[in-house]
Amino acid sequence: MMRPAAGGCGESGQAIAVAAAHALLAARTAPMVGHHVVPLDRALACYLARPLLSPRDVPAFDNAAVDGYAFAFAAGMEAGARLELAPGRAAAGRPFTDEVAAGTALRVLTGAMMPPGTDSVALQEQVVLHGRTVELPAGLRQGANRRLAGEDVRAGEPVLRAGTCLRPQDIGLAAALGQAALTVFEPLRLALFSTGDELAEPGSAPGPGTVFDANRHVLQALLRALPVEVTDLGIVRDDAASVAAALRRAASDHHVVLTSGGASRGDEDHVVRSVAAMGRLDFWQVAVKPGRPLAFGRIGDAVFIGLPGNPVAALVAFLLFARPVLRRLGGAPWQRPTGLALPAAFGLRKKAGRTEFPRAVVVHDPERGPSLARVPRQGSGMLGALRDADGLVELGHAVELVEPGDRLPFFSFADLGIPA
Ligand code: AMP
Ligand code: MG
Repeated sequence: MMRPAAGGCGESGQAIAVAAAHALLAARTAPMVGHHVVPLDRALACYLARPLLSPRDVPAFDNAAVDGYAFAFAAGMEAGARLELAPGRAAAGRPFTDEVAAGTALRVLTGAMMPPGTDSVALQEQVVLHGRTVELPAGLRQGANRRLAGEDVRAGEPVLRAGTCLRPQDIGLAAALGQAALTVFEPLRLALFSTGDELAEPGSAPGPGTVFDANRHVLQALLRALPVEVTDLGIVRDDAASVAAALRRAASDHHVVLTSGGASRGDEDHVVRSVAAMGRLDFWQVAVKPGRPLAFGRIGDAVFIGLPGNPVAALVAFLLFARPVLRRLGGAPWQRPTGLALPAAFGLRKKAGRTEFPRAVVVHDPERGPSLARVPRQGSGMLGALRDADGLVELGHAVELVEPGDRLPFFSFADLGIPA
């Protein structure tokens, strides 16, 4: 029989609030994977396993920020000055090693090491050359157009925290520090299947009552943005033995089992029943719309996440619950999705006691700025209605009334990890 563990919904089958679900998930998840070293060009979207300390200053040496003339600043030069042009030149990668005498200026190019004896650079476009004399403009200060060693990053400084999801700019930073490889968490091994007697693979001939399996394909695509290796177990029929066998197989050699469908209380909803029988079910009803039947639990050492069958509900439940869990299991810190407050362009009444995430578009008005409109069709099965949506708007647990102008948390799909 189904017996949810402590902290789950009670015998009454009452749903738990989104905030409570997040708190439970945060408390019950921790990184499951080991570390390995990957070269920089394989590190994108991996989670850093150890903090990265800078082994050096960046820039490593004082250098010219512009093309121009380097010189030693002296009192009175703010008003402009005429300096003799010193022979030679300093360019990036081609340092000038002799001392530049006071009262002279040396031609320098962007990125050149500051020549010995100089501390300032006059921008090429602002000087006037008279033969071998360089006329500096007024208004220069000591240190003008010079980049100081360590002004970006200091040697020994922590630059990337453990758990950081590596973005292109983080990889650039690691490269700038001279790192060729990074220690990151290994990918999670995840098994994925859909359940439903009505489901068929896209591309197959539909029979009466056939529904093409959209969820597995949505989820495969969503998982691509996470450090996860997916085993696709296909479509599993709605019978207790098939579902139990698929769950057992999936749990035996994966960190995570992710399913969609069969997660509510219907006669053919075998998924939660099987998980409760063979493992532990933490909760299975969240007071959220869409996405109410959401199951989380354990089968042996594997984490089980059961998403609802309706495709929009599955997508929303994945973004709000499964994605933070997968990030945490994969080595990132726990982070519930964060929204940006935007004014509503709509009003509505809502039941208190559940959190709703209608799909929304951002409407840009040149005078009043951005505001949120709900997409017209909000059915939890309507993937077609998602086409025009930019993200989800949160109507909080206690909210009963939304009036135009109310500021509401908006989660763009990009913020929720959906690549453009
Ligand atoms: P369930 O959660 O299994 O009761 O399914 C709820 C609704 O979602 C039903 O209309 C199913 O046909 C539909 N559904 C379930 N799984 C999928 C899927 N993988 N792709 C598309 N629709 C699905
Ligand atoms: Mg079903």
